[in-house]
Amino acid sequence: MVEPRPLHPGTAAPAARPVYEIERLSKTYARNLLVALTDVNLTLRQGEFVSVIGSSGCGKSTLLKIMAGLHPPTTGRVMLEGRPVTGPRPDIGMMFQQATLLPWKTTIENIVLPIEIREGRAAAKAAQGRALDLLRLVGLGDFGNVYPGELSGGMAQRASICRMLIADPAVLLLDEPFSALDELTRDFMNMELQRICRERGATAFLVTHSIAEAVLLSDRILVMKPRPGRIVEDVMIDLPRPRTLEMVNTPQFGEIVEHIRNLLGQEAFS
Ligand code: ADP
Ligand code: MG
Repeated sequence: MVEPRPLHPGTAAPAARPVYEIERLSKTYARNLLVALTDVNLTLRQGEFVSVIGSSGCGKSTLLKIMAGLHPPTTGRVMLEGRPVTGPRPDIGMMFQQATLLPWKTTIENIVLPIEIREGRAAAKAAQGRALDLLRLVGLGDFGNVYPGELSGGMAQRASICRMLIADPAVLLLDEPFSALDELTRDFMNMELQRICRERGATAFLVTHSIAEAVLLSDRILVMKPRPGRIVEDVMIDLPRPRTLEMVNTPQFGEIVEHIRNLLGQEAFS
C-alpha cells in the first residue's frame, strides 16, 4: 500500500467517506502473458479529484477500465459505494479521448442515449429537459438540436461531459478526455471540469500524461511505472482551491511539477 505523501506535511484535509476501495488488484493479459497491473491498492474518497500519471503502456487505461467494470481484474477486488463492481453501472460516469457521439443523433439525443439504452425511449424523452440544463451548464444551450458533425472538437467533448453526467453518477472516470484538443481549449475544458466537479461534489479519477494538467486539477496524483504496471507514489497536491490557470506560473506549482517529473525519472514528458 502506497500512503499519500504530502509535499507540505500537515495541510491535508480530514478524510472523507471512501467511495472506491481497491485492494490487491492485478491484471494479466493472457494472450501474451503480460502483467499490465500488479498489486494496486487505492481508496478514492468522496469529492476527491485524483489523477493517475505515467508513461504510455504502464496500465492507466487498464486500471480505469477495471474500475468502470468494463474489464474483470485477474486478482483483487474493486468496491464502489460498498458494492463490488462486476459490470457497467449507472453510478459510474465515463469519458474517453474521443467524444464518440453518434452522428445520426442530435446532441440532445446523444446525451440521453445512456438513459435510452437502459430504460427505453420514453424515459430518454422525459430526460431531455435535464439534458438541456446540462447543455446550458457547459455553455451549449443553443446546440441541443444540431448533429455532432456541426460541433467543434471542444464542443463535442462538452456534449460528452453532459452525456456522462445525465445519469447523475457518483464517480467520474476520465481517460485523457481532453488530450485531442488544442491547448487553449484544453485549459478551458479543465477549468470547466473543475467547476462541474465542485458544483456537483463529484469524485473524479483522471488518467492523463500531462503533469501540469494533473497538478492543476488534482487533490492527489498517483504516479505509475510500467513493466509491471504499478503505483509507485501517491502525492498530495495542497494548492488552494479553486485552482486557476495563473497558478501554473507560481513557484509552488513549479516545485510540484518538478517533484513528479523526478518521480517519473527517465520516462518524464511534458
Ligand atoms: P496506458 O493506458 O497506461 O497507456 P494500457 O492500460 O492501455 O496502458 O496498457 C497496459 C499494457 O497492457 C500495455 O503493455 C498494453 O499493450 C497491454 N494491453 C492493454 N490492453 C490489452 C489487451 N486488451 N490485450 C492485451 N494486452 C493489452
Ligand atoms: Mg491509455
